[in-house]
Amino acid sequence: MSLRSTVDFLLYQWLDAESLRQRARFADHSRETFDAVFDTCERIAREKYAPFNRLVDTQEPHFDGEKVILPQATHDAQKAYAASGMLSAAQDYESGGMQLPYTVEAAANAFFAMASVSIGSGMLTTGNANLLMVHGTDLQKEVFAKNEFSGRFSGTMCLSEPQAGSSLSDVTTRALPDGAYFESEPLGPRYRLKGNKMWISAGEHELTDNIIHLVLAKIPGPDGKLIPGTRGISLFIVPKKMVNTRGELTGVRNDVALAGLNHKLGWRGTTNTLLNFGEGKYPVDGQAGAVGYLVGQPHQGLRCMFHMMNEARIGVGTAATMLGMAGYYASLDYARNRPQGRPITGAGKDASAPQSRIIEHADVKRMLLAQKSYCEGALALELYCARLVDEQHTAEPQAADEARLLLEVLTPIAKSWPSEWCLEANSLAIQVHGGYGYTRDFPVEQYWRDNRLNMIHEGTHGIQAMDLLGRKVLMEEGRGLALLTARINATAERALRVPDLAGHARALAQALQQVSHATQAAWATGTPGDALANAVPYMQAFGHTVLAWIWLDVGLAALRADATKSVASTLGKIGAMAYFYHYELPKIGAWLNVVQNRDLTCANLPEEAF
Ligand SMILES: Cc1cc2nc3c(=O)[nH]c(=O)nc-3n(C[C@H](O)[C@H](O)[C@H](O)COP(=O)(O)OP(=O)(O)OC[C@H]3O[C@@H](n4cnc5c(N)ncnc54)[C@H](O)[C@@H]3O)c2cc1C
Repeated sequence: MSLRSTVDFLLYQWLDAESLRQRARFADHSRETFDAVFDTCERIAREKYAPFNRLVDTQEPHFDGEKVILPQATHDAQKAYAASGMLSAAQDYESGGMQLPYTVEAAANAFFAMASVSIGSGMLTTGNANLLMVHGTDLQKEVFAKNEFSGRFSGTMCLSEPQAGSSLSDVTTRALPDGAYFESEPLGPRYRLKGNKMWISAGEHELTDNIIHLVLAKIPGPDGKLIPGTRGISLFIVPKKMVNTRGELTGVRNDVALAGLNHKLGWRGTTNTLLNFGEGKYPVDGQAGAVGYLVGQPHQGLRCMFHMMNEARIGVGTAATMLGMAGYYASLDYARNRPQGRPITGAGKDASAPQSRIIEHADVKRMLLAQKSYCEGALALELYCARLVDEQHTAEPQAADEARLLLEVLTPIAKSWPSEWCLEANSLAIQVHGGYGYTRDFPVEQYWRDNRLNMIHEGTHGIQAMDLLGRKVLMEEGRGLALLTARINATAERALRVPDLAGHARALAQALQQVSHATQAAWATGTPGDALANAVPYMQAFGHTVLAWIWLDVGLAALRADATKSVASTLGKIGAMAYFYHYELPKIGAWLNVVQNRDLTCANLPEEAF
């Protein structure tokens, strides 16, 4: 089944994306307009991205002392992406957008992620500009966000510092008011920033006229000291090149300097940078300090930044999913064509018989079905979450609030589950290729290397797990978890009435009870140290239960569309669902065991015993 037909099925037969046109915001849309977007994105991904995926891996970005050089193919691909209107796809018509549902935008971006994740499809630029559309002033929107939507400028997110990754409360970049009249600057209160930002993706390049950095920094308190914790953090727009109120470049370079490029395991088509802010390499008005314009209120920076987190995390989850999917398709193709070995019959092997193709071996089928169940299941989850984003923004108040809460609980899973399991899919894709998979003659090793990032950035696996068990399942008196439980039970009840699915429905209901019991047992002592010591196994079990639910719901839709299972794609979906229930869901027992026993084997081992 091609990606397009999988996306079509999930959107139209499962998620009923067409019904979104009943919302006033999407009234001009129809299946035809959605399909036209997919046609365009598929074509650009096929022509401008996929052929260059290997090239951007081997021709890493390099700094010639003045500029960062990227292959011409990256320039061409990003121009084509911007010209397609995708950077502002979900924005209002008045802002030059298409008012496309986020569900459709997320699905359309999947084509680029599969073709070449590291050429990049503007996720950072769109996220940066979307944030400004919510928290920026009218002029900030006009000067910065709109120029990002058009592709003239690009955007970054500058959170991390060499000494502050997971723990953002420890950022030390400082922002001081720039002169006595700093508050009367039309582009926003003007500050001077000094500090170092590490790991900044797309932090330096020549792809666009300007780069708009969104930077977290601390404004010192009255005593000149930085306020401890995240409370002290504010958000600033720091353009690489200074602009006037019409968005024109003034010819003055801002004091942001590239300290160096990071050379990465994968995702090499995107630059990754250490940036020095305000070290005096490019003084502005004769003075060291990067000029930054405050966004929103002082000390509210992290709250503003979190605005873009749900969508950014769905974006990361989708990227992980599509890398897994790319490996699945590559290994499926390889397995269909590689002759190796012969079938074992009752009389042993007949060496004179023609060889089998490896797809005929049960173990290879196992590896292919595992990939299919991980990747198609993950894609369904991402699109489900994207649909919740649309519900949150356009549904009636109660449904919108439910969508918000469900997203809170599901976002750590949407980010982390594909990062772990679609990476595992990439590993299986290498395995299907045998020794060839371990070489650079086939694309699967690159997919694995590219995908390895996703458990690290946008909150590591460990941090996401602590967010899930330490915050999300508890928030609002557990209302989000209760809502999710109700949705899972509703699917299980419907599936109980379908003979093909009744066994899975019972298994799902039981898994849900196990998760619920483990959640309570983890917190039985009320001590975070006890509960969170096994947050990752908890997230693995929670994630597998969510995926089992998603698969059952998808299975119901597949049988609704083709009750007799006469179409191969229906057999594929039912087979992938069955794989998940037989081979994957039973794993949750082991994961939850340590959670509910509050097992401290790891936590209590003294450092010197390692
Ligand atoms: C290729 C790449 C691109 C990136 N792009 C950006 C970007 O554009 N902008 C940006 O701001 N950042 C970016 N990052 C940074 C990324 O978000 C951080 O690497 C990540 O948040 C982890 O921080 P760290 O690397 O300092 O690791 P650390 O925070 O030091 O973590 C190391 C390990 O310790 C664990 N750990 C840390 N604290 C705890 C805790 N309290 N409890 C339990 N375990 C803990 C972590 O889970 C992890 O396994 C990027 C990183 C990479 C590699």
